[in-house]
Amino acid sequence: MSSPLRVALLVVSDTAAKDPSTDASGEALGQLLADEGSGKWELVETKIVADNVTQIQRQLMLWADVAAHRFNLILTTGGTGFAVSDNTPEAVAALLHRKAPGLVHAMLAASLSVTPFAMMSRPVAGVRHQSVIVTLPGSPKGAKENLQAIIKTLPHACVQAAGANSRAIHAGGVKKLEADAGLSSTTEQSSAQPHAHHHHHAHGHGHNHGHGGHGHGGLVRHTKPGSNPISNDPSLGPSRRNRESPFPMLPVADALAKISENTPAPEIITSKVDSNLPGHVLAQDVTARENVPAFRASIVDGYAVVVPRDGNMKGVFPVVSVSHATPGEVKPLNEGEIARITTGAPLPPGATSVIMVEDTILKTMTDDGKEEKEVEILADNVKEGENIREVGSDIKAESVILSKGEQASAQGGEIGLLAAVGVSEVKTYRKPVVGVLSTGDEIVDHDRPGDLRYGEVRDTNRITLISAAKEAGYAVVDLGIAGDKPGTLEETLRDSLRRVDLVITTGGVSMGELDLLKPTIERALGGTIHFGRVAMKPGKPTTFATVPVKQTESGARVDKVIFSLPGNPASAIVSFHLFVLPALQQMSGVEPAGLTRLPVVLAHDFPLDKSRVEYHRAIVSVSKDGVIRATSTGGQRSSKVGSLKGANALLCLPQGSEPLKSGATVEALLMGGIRSDF
Ligand code: AMP
Ligand code: MG
Repeated sequence: MSSPLRVALLVVSDTAAKDPSTDASGEALGQLLADEGSGKWELVETKIVADNVTQIQRQLMLWADVAAHRFNLILTTGGTGFAVSDNTPEAVAALLHRKAPGLVHAMLAASLSVTPFAMMSRPVAGVRHQSVIVTLPGSPKGAKENLQAIIKTLPHACVQAAGANSRAIHAGGVKKLEADAGLSSTTEQSSAQPHAHHHHHAHGHGHNHGHGGHGHGGLVRHTKPGSNPISNDPSLGPSRRNRESPFPMLPVADALAKISENTPAPEIITSKVDSNLPGHVLAQDVTARENVPAFRASIVDGYAVVVPRDGNMKGVFPVVSVSHATPGEVKPLNEGEIARITTGAPLPPGATSVIMVEDTILKTMTDDGKEEKEVEILADNVKEGENIREVGSDIKAESVILSKGEQASAQGGEIGLLAAVGVSEVKTYRKPVVGVLSTGDEIVDHDRPGDLRYGEVRDTNRITLISAAKEAGYAVVDLGIAGDKPGTLEETLRDSLRRVDLVITTGGVSMGELDLLKPTIERALGGTIHFGRVAMKPGKPTTFATVPVKQTESGARVDKVIFSLPGNPASAIVSFHLFVLPALQQMSGVEPAGLTRLPVVLAHDFPLDKSRVEYHRAIVSVSKDGVIRATSTGGQRSSKVGSLKGANALLCLPQGSEPLKSGATVEALLMGGIRSDF
């Protein structure tokens, strides 16, 4: 298309007509045209009128009838409801020369997939002279949804309405039209993924094909990818679902990069130094408040002395005082006197060194025989400071003891350090709160008593993911199970996003007509899906999105994260470790994010998947000779609940047609600790 198509927008609203600053739809639509129009559109003029038929019609006629204007597309927003003042459809319908019920149908279908209230909108669309006119609802969200549903096909309609030669336009057939409109999924395949199409129909994570050693059949697809006649816009809803996913299939590395780019930055908070601190990352350097030790202390049991210049302490000395490791005043010591002292006890003022009890002999006792009176010291060449821990010799007050970015470990070292220097509060990165939601009408609580009804499935994912997130050190909110109804899902997610920072859902991201997560996130919640498919096995439909949410207290907008994982239990947990964990770590300041990688040696042959890299659940252990070996946990089909039992690692297996031989080295991602196998 050479020059952009000219668009005029008419905002119909009594309120906006009085105060244009109240209009939000105009901007939203302008943005959408810019974002989704691939440069095909130019919003030339925006006008605001009241809900008044005459005013609406006058403006539309100016735009459609005056040849000099020549608008290709005229959009109205507002006045399409059932209120008495809503009469945009009537005003527009009366002007249309030709009606376009297909556009109306597409818009309604899209909105209905989001909310039943879409039926409260009464859109009309059609052509007047050479302009396509479409009425959109007044709410910015509704208006955007509706326009989104048709925007890809509109250029074609506009060009034809403007009088272009339709035979020339159709020369390439429907496929070409789709491709030009950006509707065909074939346009989205990256050439680096030549096999990406191969398993589309295989229900995402249900790609249980061709894994030789484990004896299960492959899924059968009868049509070639890309050969189906119509590739729908996802907004057309469940009744007209895509036959192929419109989401590009990202390599794992790209998906991880998107996660890292779009995960919100960590938030800095003040944390108490207590047993809840381990796992938190410090957001600021920590300096010691006090010296350690805070007083000069003996490091042995013995006698505090004042060493003469020549260092010769040989002789018999009176024991004039005793210093135990208790707080309080200690009597000063003079040359020629000694004081009995215990390990860790403060030195008497004036004392210069401590002689170990082993270097002394008791000479005389008090009359009652209970106390030492005189002690002979056998040491010469005694140095000042001998057997003494000087003030601050361990840690100096004001010195940096822990740096920003360091994690207080649960093994204890860091927390002990903070405790020792009297630091009771530190700045840390707040750990995100995780919510876990299962979706699916068939899913029932795992502990629901009684037998399953035909078709019911016990909720495996929720308890698994809750446990995994807790184990990783995050607070978790159990969000329960949501059924496969758009309204239910929307409400549950909206509510959840207010309560937690990151929502993990499972199920509903495949290609089934009830798989509503993606549309709900994008259309109902106004979220952005950063990726909706990943070239991996298992976990292909893994979806990552962020949703702007208004904080109730501050009113500030923050991005919340949604990970929609496949429903199959093995896929869900693999995706969690591979994708969710790094996001959680990034949100809590942990660097580098991600599981520990290490090279391991295959203990047996591993069959490979022809088209996708595989994250193979495995047991990794270290042998006597120091070699780390990996054994498969068996049955890797993504629906196989048992394939994770015992697994402490995911092996990164490349794609390939020949098995990878025993003894080959591959990279493993560690999910748990390594045990020795001897
Ligand atoms: P879906 O992605 O919703 O099509 O689900 C794919 C498969 O995973 C189906 O067989 C579901 O029954 C199953 N599934 C979904 N959610 C769960 C869950 N929470 N626990 C166990 N299986 C599930
Ligand atoms: Mg489902």
